Amino acid sequence: MSKPAIAFLGLGIMGSGMARRLLLNGFSVTVFNRSPEKAKALAVDGAKVVNSPREAASGAGVIISMVADDNASRAMWLGENSALAGAAQGTVCIECSTVTVDWVCELAAAVAAKQYEFLDAPVTGSKSHAASGELNFLVGGDQNTVEKVRPVFSAMGKTVLPVGPIGSGALLKLINNFVCGVQVAALAEATAMIERSGLDRAKALEVLTNGAPGSPLVKTVAMRMTTPDYTPNFLLRLVTKDLSYAIKEAGKLFIELPMALAAREEFQRAIAAGHGDKDLAAVVEPLRKR
Ligand code: NAP
Repeated sequence: MSKPAIAFLGLGIMGSGMARRLLLNGFSVTVFNRSPEKAKALAVDGAKVVNSPREAASGAGVIISMVADDNASRAMWLGENSALAGAAQGTVCIECSTVTVDWVCELAAAVAAKQYEFLDAPVTGSKSHAASGELNFLVGGDQNTVEKVRPVFSAMGKTVLPVGPIGSGALLKLINNFVCGVQVAALAEATAMIERSGLDRAKALEVLTNGAPGSPLVKTVAMRMTTPDYTPNFLLRLVTKDLSYAIKEAGKLFIELPMALAAREEFQRAIAAGHGDKDLAAVVEPLRKR
């Protein structure tokens, strides 16, 4: 399976970069996006554009979905015009969206009932990593299936990390994004405090970003908060979704996530103030006004 035909579902910030990487690496790619205008740029780059996940899946060796959440993923895979309705024997189905463990397991069962193969493969990395083929895949599922589609992953990412059975990828991704969400909410509060206090902001943020709290995420988001530049890399409403999903998963383990709950409140306040479709860095705006 060195160059299987690909069906790519979802051409948002991440999906458009990933689909373009596949085209650049010589794969034949058929794309579907709910809003057809987003597919136009991919058509210019050589993708075949179709009108349903079902059409995209027919003739594909590998189907990849990269959409917003559980509901969007369900719309891609299940139902009359869905990918599973159009797929053929031997297809490998890959869910790359950040979704819940419950949904990914339900989807895996639906794929298994059709006797296709399935991988749960969410990603770390953002818009720039998707565009440059430097994502990291956290993969739950059978290692033989991973090997079968390794060239497909290699076109889009720099690492493929097997993390366990189906559901493990989704779970680890949610834990990862819980920590990311908490870091960004804490940075927003710190930035508001620095600004209100009269400290030299540039100097203070230099201490934070070059010191112990300066994770790669804190470094980039601090720049976006100060510029300010809220061009979406990772939509604020999607990090809120990830925090909700992480809180739900923790609940299944009888663990509360007070940090995630507090961070989610900051993001929800920003959504209520109209910042949901901006980059997650915009979480600082309501704090500046409070
Ligand atoms: P995005 O730009 O908002 O794209 C979302 C995609 O989902 C679009 O194709 C959108 O279609 C589609 N969609 C949303 N709701 C739908 C529905 N009900 N039915 C059908 N399609 C629907 O988001 P993104 O940043 O590419 O993120 C995609 C996934 O990757 C999410 O699960 C996100 O959490 C995850 N992720 C994002 C990043 C990041 O940095 N951006 C990093 C890692 C993982 P329309 O164009 O029609 O709206």
